[in-house]
Amino acid sequence: MVDYALQRRALLADVAAGRTTLAAACDAGAYLQRAARFHGEPMDRTCPVCRKEKLTQVSWVFGEGLRQISGSARRPEELEQLAAHHAEFSVHVVEVCRTCGWNHLLRSFVLGAGRTTRRRTAGE
Ligand SMILES: [Zn+2]
Repeated sequence: MVDYALQRRALLADVAAGRTTLAAACDAGAYLQRAARFHGEPMDRTCPVCRKEKLTQVSWVFGEGLRQISGSARRPEELEQLAAHHAEFSVHVVEVCRTCGWNHLLRSFVLGAGRTTRRRTAGE
């Protein structure tokens, strides 16, 4: 389990200080936006950049054992099923703002090979 909250805070500080442009920080592509719409879960946290909308959390799965599924976004209930039926794979959880495009990797962890995880809620 890797937590990326520190990098997130550092990036937000860079945006606030003008060291990183908003365009560079808010680079959610059409693909990510689509994933947020169809596979995302609403988070209880407002976008740190535009402060207009609640963030959406999207989980991406990567792993050779997943074959064609690797690199796609999955809902939490699908993660549980994949974990029960596949070899180890990694999950990358990204927060996305559907208004301004802000996105950031929140955390990553390993599932699979019978390993399941408790539902985690996002938090600092
Ligand atoms: Zn935003």
